[in-house]
Amino acid sequence: MANARTPQSEGLDILVLGGGVAGISAAIEATEASCNVTLIEKSPTLGGRAVRNHQYFPKLCPPSCGMEINFQRIRKNPRIHVITQAELERLEGVPGDFQATLKIAPRHVNANCTQCGACAVVCPAERPDEVNCGLSRTKSAYLPSLTAYPPWYAIDRQACVEGCHACVDACQYAAIDLQQQPERKTVRVAAVVAATGWESYDATKIANLGFGRCRNVVTNVMMERMASLSGPTQGKILRPSDDQPPRSVAFVQCAGSRDANHLPYCSAVCCSASLKQTTYLHRQLPECKTTLFYIDLRTPGLLQDFYSKVTADGSVRLIKGKVGKIEEDAATGDLIVTAEEALTGKKISTRFDMAVLATGMVPNTQGLPEGFHPDEFGFLTNEDKGLYGAGCVHRPSEVVSSIRDATGAALRALQCVVEGLPRG
Ligand SMILES: Cc1cc2nc3c(=O)[nH]c(=O)nc-3n(C[C@H](O)[C@H](O)[C@H](O)COP(=O)(O)OP(=O)(O)OC[C@H]3O[C@@H](n4cnc5c(N)ncnc54)[C@H](O)[C@@H]3O)c2cc1C
Repeated sequence: MANARTPQSEGLDILVLGGGVAGISAAIEATEASCNVTLIEKSPTLGGRAVRNHQYFPKLCPPSCGMEINFQRIRKNPRIHVITQAELERLEGVPGDFQATLKIAPRHVNANCTQCGACAVVCPAERPDEVNCGLSRTKSAYLPSLTAYPPWYAIDRQACVEGCHACVDACQYAAIDLQQQPERKTVRVAAVVAATGWESYDATKIANLGFGRCRNVVTNVMMERMASLSGPTQGKILRPSDDQPPRSVAFVQCAGSRDANHLPYCSAVCCSASLKQTTYLHRQLPECKTTLFYIDLRTPGLLQDFYSKVTADGSVRLIKGKVGKIEEDAATGDLIVTAEEALTGKKISTRFDMAVLATGMVPNTQGLPEGFHPDEFGFLTNEDKGLYGAGCVHRPSEVVSSIRDATGAALRALQCVVEGLPRG
């Protein structure tokens, strides 16, 4: 077959930026059409943000299940070359023939690592755990996540105590090299798929909702980590001011979203995410009362069934009304949540133990080369040949839609590869 390729035949054909669910899906799909892929991820592990969630809606299963299957597929796939702690530094050339220069930061830990953890035990230095939104700390020698891929520790040299090499001395497997330097690598590719995902909107910018000022106001992303066994409270949902289980929680939808002063668009997943959070909150704390304040409850397509299921028993109180203000009772840490009921126009103020802000998604386009065109909100438009966005950097979406979008982006990238092949 004239067009058939082997992993070794003509170099690497597609570059995928971002190892979340979208990037992983784009990479796997492209290799199943006999294409070679370099998949780069800027953090020390694949998985992206979806694996940080406690559970997935609609099935309410742990996100690590699906991801483990993807990791196995990558492990067995000689056509995918994964490089973590890597970013695209420069892109030159034209669609069908780009030269991409990658900058790879040192991990300081190699494939000899067995995850024994001896390095972390002796490590004297700590750093904020970014995965847990800074609510906990890790040692400077740390495992990026329980399901890390590649399954090795990493060392954050910036957090190390100067001159310390306790980790090197403790490692029985010669897995640590503190002198490792950054590297550069050039790859020739026909197309680039950016699957660089999303960041949570900075809740401190929504001053009226009290985040950063009121101790018991958290974001939806923090809530996922609080409920997770690998989170800062080992899965116990506690209110931050006194580490007590909350007796009442307000879920505040569209925190900054659909608001001309913040994010004018709808992030598409926040309503389903909050409904999901009420289910695991009720399971852990059956006595806890939950109220969800919303403008419109948007659970598109099949997620409407999820909405019906979650709300069927009346365990969550739904109030159609935008929250205008959250204030703290300094003596107790309780929150006074003020909203305007949409149907009556009446202002209501209610006391809660805790509030969860459903902050929206901001597309993560930082560091992307010129040629990727963002729309007015920052999401990639995919209007240029050879450069395609996939997943949440293209449009806000839940996991299933991100995977579908990534499959589409992989197909378009493959078209660039095929155009460059000799015709047989
Ligand atoms: C609170 C909350 C709860 C949610 N719960 C669910 C749920 O239950 N079910 C569901 O289906 N969906 C849920 N979602 C949506 C889900 O998180 C997204 O659909 C999913 O994360 C999209 O994956 P992605 O690969 O597009 O982006 P991401 O998960 O953000 O992955 C992007 C990856 O790219 C990397 N990266 C970024 N920039 C670069 C760069 N320049 N170079 C290299 N790598 C880079 C990042 O480190 C990251 O690993 C939830 C969302 C929120 C906000």
